[in-house]
Amino acid sequence: MAIICVTFPSCYMENTARNIKKDSQISATKKLQSIDFNHIWHPFTQADQWFDADPLIVEKAEAMYLIDCEGNRYLDGISSLWCNVHGHSHPEFLAAGHRQLDELMHSTLLGLTHRPIIECTERLVELLPGGLSRVFYSDSGTSAVEAGLRISLEWWQKQSSSLAKIKTQLASLQGAYHGDTLGAVGIGYLDFFHGALSSNVVQSNRVRPPHIFRFEQGLSEEQALARSIAELEDFFVSRHETLAGFFVEPIVQGAAGIWIHPPEYLAAIARFCRKYSVHLIVDEVATGFGKSGKLFACELADLEPDILIMGKGLSGGYLPISAAACTEELFEGFRGKPSEGKTFFYGQTFAGNPLAARFAEVNLRIFQESSLLGDVASKIDYFGKLIEDKIENLSHVDEVRRAGLMTGIELTAAPGQRQPFEIDREIGVKITRAARKKGVVIRPLGNVIILMPALAMSNEELETLVSVTAAAIDEVCS
Ligand code: PMP
Repeated sequence: MAIICVTFPSCYMENTARNIKKDSQISATKKLQSIDFNHIWHPFTQADQWFDADPLIVEKAEAMYLIDCEGNRYLDGISSLWCNVHGHSHPEFLAAGHRQLDELMHSTLLGLTHRPIIECTERLVELLPGGLSRVFYSDSGTSAVEAGLRISLEWWQKQSSSLAKIKTQLASLQGAYHGDTLGAVGIGYLDFFHGALSSNVVQSNRVRPPHIFRFEQGLSEEQALARSIAELEDFFVSRHETLAGFFVEPIVQGAAGIWIHPPEYLAAIARFCRKYSVHLIVDEVATGFGKSGKLFACELADLEPDILIMGKGLSGGYLPISAAACTEELFEGFRGKPSEGKTFFYGQTFAGNPLAARFAEVNLRIFQESSLLGDVASKIDYFGKLIEDKIENLSHVDEVRRAGLMTGIELTAAPGQRQPFEIDREIGVKITRAARKKGVVIRPLGNVIILMPALAMSNEELETLVSVTAAAIDEVCS
């Protein structure tokens, strides 16, 4: 039998092998994409826009990079929706997570307790701002916000005085965002998001923070601050008798587009809350765990809240766990015999899940024992300088708002004027896609591009994030 031996040049073989791999990878990716397109409904995502482009299908992550199912690497410029703190797949979390998986994956906090939540709480109460010593756990930012508003409202109802019982209302700031269940929507109502629900939501009393006067009415920062504090005082004087609690996102109103509150304004809210016996409730779901330069942003204004809500970064941003930390005085209001009706009838199946609690314990340990928080000030300065150099002067950038690492880049359709791009021009989405082609993941909020790097991002990676964002803005807007 004749043996026919055909030899291919080695480069041909290599190419063929690569092509075969690539083809099979591409068809595997297409299969995943088609299941996604046919069956998954993505949150806060317009489906028609989603179907318009190939999705980034994340399969792995390492440190600051997301890796898709074809092995491409992308710098995570939004810390996986503002929650990642130490980078992905951090070895200390992996090790602690594996140990915890072997021991206990889930057990309830309703009527039982467990070791990881106790060890996590021991650290948390050491780190909380003064006066907060009682922690109510939940599983998402929204459900912790709901816990906070219910604790405040119910606490007043459980007091014996008739004056306390008329405190049935909440207040919050215009443009705030506090989550997506109907209670949370009531304090964070935005017409654009929630208009269709207007008759189903109990809306809180809304007060205008300084940026509304500055951005919308053209007042200077000093005038805007004075005006907003005067309005705040009028509001408290006329409404305090019926007010149970006042919600505020400290320092940064995040999801509304990164609007910065001057510390003096927050201090005024705290002062009036104290004077008129209204609970001060700070929502640190977005601002907590170092992005502001402090562990909690309320420390920048020396606030001593009655309730502090946290989520996202509590577990280092890896697993769902959240909390409403309260004063002992609030907790005391819910004590009594079962017949007294003082029990707090609120809680979720996965509230304080052990695996998530173990991650939270590791996260807090790193904050306590490493120089992460101490190093952040110089990182914030470096990041600010990069933004000043590369972004602030771009012709289609109206203004950049930044507190710590939290950054919003407001775009304008008409350089030199304040004119948002029309929504159907999808400018934010186009900028996001342009950045992705250059290996960086960012995400717009309407006319604002958000940068929210993880606390542990290196200066070199911050430079890539800012340079690519600048290039993407320039490419799309001009
Ligand atoms: N409060 C604030 C200030 C937030 O930014 C968010 C989410 N971005 C929430 C509450 C809701 O958190 P979650 O998405 O975990 O429910």
